[in-house]
Parts: sequence; structure tokens; C-alpha cells
Amino acid sequence: MKKISLITPMYNEAPMVSLYMEKVQEILTKLNGYEYEIICINDGSSDDTLTLLKQEQEKNDHLVIIDLSRNWGQEAALSAGLLTATGDCAIPMDADLQDPPELIPLLIEKWEEGYDVVNAKRVSRKKDTAFKRQSAGLYYRILEKLSPKVKIPQNVNNFRLLDKKVVDTINNLPETNRVLRIEIPFVGFKSCEIQFVRQKRAKGKSHYPFKAMVNLATSSITSLSTKPLSWSLPVTLIILALFICSGIAELVLFILQACEINYFLSEVGYWGWLIINVLLLLAFCLGTMLTVISLYTAKIVEESQHRPSVIIKEIIKK
Ligand code: UDP
Ligand code: MG
Repeated sequence: MKKISLITPMYNEAPMVSLYMEKVQEILTKLNGYEYEIICINDGSSDDTLTLLKQEQEKNDHLVIIDLSRNWGQEAALSAGLLTATGDCAIPMDADLQDPPELIPLLIEKWEEGYDVVNAKRVSRKKDTAFKRQSAGLYYRILEKLSPKVKIPQNVNNFRLLDKKVVDTINNLPETNRVLRIEIPFVGFKSCEIQFVRQKRAKGKSHYPFKAMVNLATSSITSLSTKPLSWSLPVTLIILALFICSGIAELVLFILQACEINYFLSEVGYWGWLIINVLLLLAFCLGTMLTVISLYTAKIVEESQHRPSVIIKEIIKK
């Protein structure tokens, strides 16, 4: 019998524990022909999350609790869950029921059709604040620009179904900077999307204030691409172009002035302009050095990630 692993990180989710267990249990018991485990990761909560999970475990043999040594963050907690999962597929989801458990049967249906990754895409962000909608839009636009080869699905967070082979591949990635929503598209495999409307958090409050959102965005960008390191090159070239135009213009005026053909510039104007040109030349030299350093740094980052150069899905022989 195939086994489903539901993986949920929990950080100070005491108000949610029993409601979450009730809802997911209701859906999972209705799945005919599947075994399941519910893996809850206590991510260093300072409230009663762990105690409540232990109480739930007394009533529920399917519940596996992973207690982390401190608060490591959602991505690290999910990694711990993926490493522990024993199912034929894994479904990471949030504890606050914003990812509706009612979608689990549909995710499984798609998996049975042969998809290795089933992404759950949010169709509407109407329930988000205007700021969250705008910042999420910008975040996905930047990711799209940065990775022409690896397509990062828009508005898909960690709620997805992953086949065991995808889970194993991700577990074997050696990098320590874990960002699941970047790693899943990076490893590839046959993927599809289902759509859903994200609900409001059932109870408790969000753990993603502005600072945590910025951290996630920077981790995603650095995990996805070293492209920002190459941005110093076009800037340096623009500075060079400005220097050339400005330098030539000043030289022409200087020659005209020397030949006493025309008097465009005062003495002060001439020296002021010369200082600007010298500064442009210095900026160009610094930009060139920065570009060289960036090129080498990009190589170091790529090598230090130790990501595989290629991932084989299957070798088909006759
Ligand atoms: N979470 C976690 N560790 C953290 C922050 C959050 O395990 O340091 C969990 C949290 O308990 C929830 C999920 O990650 O299950 C998503 O968090 P939240 O609902 O606060 O994020 P939002 O939906 O506001 O983006
Ligand atoms: Mg939430």
C-alpha cells in the first residue's frame, strides 16, 4: 500500500495544533487504499506546541513529532521533515490551514496520473494586504528575470506534492542554504499545477514580518542565481561611456579655447569639469576591479553549493 507523508513545520502554533490535527485527520482517514503519516516539526516553539502535539500523539498513531533543538526557520524545519519522511510521496503544508487539506486528494490524484511534482498555485491574493500582494509580485518577477532556465512557478509556496524520488534528490543536495521553492524547480521532474484560493490563517498570527520576508527573498535570490554579481559589468560600461563622451567634449572645448576660436568655459568651469572626468575615470577603474572580483565570487558560490551538474531521472534501455 502506498504511503503519504504530510509534513508540517510548527512554530508557536499552540492555538492551531488540535484544529490542524482534526482537519487533516478528517481528510486523511477518507483516503482509501493509502497509508499515511503526519510529521509535525516543532521548530523551537516557546509556547505549548510540543506539549499539545504529544497529547495528540497519545490519541493518534500516525503522528510523528520532530522536535528541533531551537528555532531554525520554516525552510530548515521542512528539510528535517523531508529527511524523516518514509512515504512514497510527501506533502509539505502550513499549520494554519491556509493550505486547504481538502486539496490533498486532488494532489494525490495528479500524482497517480504520473506527475512527480504537483504544485498548488494560489489563484487569488485578494485576502492579502496590498503591500503583501505588491511585494510578492515583485519577488516573483525578480526570480523570473534571474533564472531563464529554471522556471520558478509563480504564487506557489511550499504546499505541493513531491514524489519520493524528488524528495530523495532534494535530500541529497549538499547545500546548507535551503529554499525549497527554489530547489524543487531546480531538480526538475515531471510537474503540473492545480489551483486554489488561499484561506485566511485559521488562528494565531503570521511569523513572517517584513524582516523575515526580506530574508526569504534574499535567500531565494542567492540560492537561485549568481546573476546579481554580474550587474557591476553594465554599470561599469555605462560609466566608461559617460567618461568617453565627457572627456572628448571637454578636450574639444579645450582645443577650441587654446586656438582662441571660442570661449565657452570659464577657468573654474574647465577645472570643475576636469575633476568630474577624473572621478568618472576612477569610478570606471573601481568598477572594472569589482567586476573581476564578482566574476570569481560567482564561480566560488556556484562551486560551494556543490549542486549536481545534472540530474538523471531514468535510464531507459532496451
Ligand atoms: N514556521 C516555522 N518556523 C518559523 C516560522 C514559521 O516552522 O520560524 C511555520 C509556521 O508554524 C507555519 C508555516 O511555517 O506552519 C508558515 O508560517 P506562517 O503561517 O506564519 O507564514 P505566512 O503564511 O504568514 O507566510
Ligand atoms: Mg500562514
